[in-house]
Amino acid sequence: MIAKRLGAIEAGGTKFLCAVGTPDGELLQETRIPTGTPEETIPQVIDFFQDFSRDFSRSGGEPLAAIGIASFGPVQIDRNSPQYGFITTTPKAAWRHFDLLGAIRRAFPVPAGFDTDVNGAALAEARWGAAKGLRAFLYVTVGTGIGGGALVDGSPLHGMTHGEMGHIRIPHDRSRDSFAGICPFHGDCLEGLASGPAIEARWQVPATALAPDHAAWRLEAEYLALACVNWICVLSPQRIVLGGGVMRPELFPLIRRRVCELLNGYLDVPELTRDIDRYIVPSPLEGRAGLLGALELSARALNQA
Ligand code: ZN
Repeated sequence: MIAKRLGAIEAGGTKFLCAVGTPDGELLQETRIPTGTPEETIPQVIDFFQDFSRDFSRSGGEPLAAIGIASFGPVQIDRNSPQYGFITTTPKAAWRHFDLLGAIRRAFPVPAGFDTDVNGAALAEARWGAAKGLRAFLYVTVGTGIGGGALVDGSPLHGMTHGEMGHIRIPHDRSRDSFAGICPFHGDCLEGLASGPAIEARWQVPATALAPDHAAWRLEAEYLALACVNWICVLSPQRIVLGGGVMRPELFPLIRRRVCELLNGYLDVPELTRDIDRYIVPSPLEGRAGLLGALELSARALNQA
């Protein structure tokens, strides 16, 4: 008997990563599709899975058993909403109010899981990455945007909608950093000050081109430490996993030290006083957390069907 095959889609603002994998996290076949308009992108996504299903059924396999989508947002995650599965107020005009889940389910009427890319990534960290065995933790990506996914007792934290941890307000000392910020909604929210595009706009070079000892990184660590302190005080995560393209290794010691300074001994817990190196950590999934998260959403949808 051949194991079930699951579809996984990490829908990003610049690319869609699609994969077929097994319920235990093995990715068997993958493709990368640039994010154009929905009319350009979705047919390529569907073709990828249809091609796989055709080849797999020729070798005696079943059609895809379930699909998971971990999407850029904001998205509607309320199952009772008529817009469940839609991308909502994204700055990417062609995707605004697009029924992403519906477009996929019309082509593949199988159980489907749907959540934000960062909630998906948090699920992957819990199962295969840096957060195994934890009850409550936080995954944050710092890249073209900043977003966070909190898991509580194994489930993403869903309230009135998903969290928007990249858009928190942090102290902005304009005598140290006169940059106004780039968030189209808030200017100098965390994402507006500390995302990859914000770094590039402030220093006029891409973040990846900045030397390790550039002043940009001390400022970046300051902003991310301020954000971590807020997340720690509000959510009390057992660990914070920081992923995304901006998170280079030399940032971690700077952030850890500054978090301890800012908390100033207020929280007397071993995670902070003794084990800070194991408390604020990089993702061990090497950029795969989102896609593996989509696979986990797919596996969960199958289990709940
Ligand atoms: Zn913002």
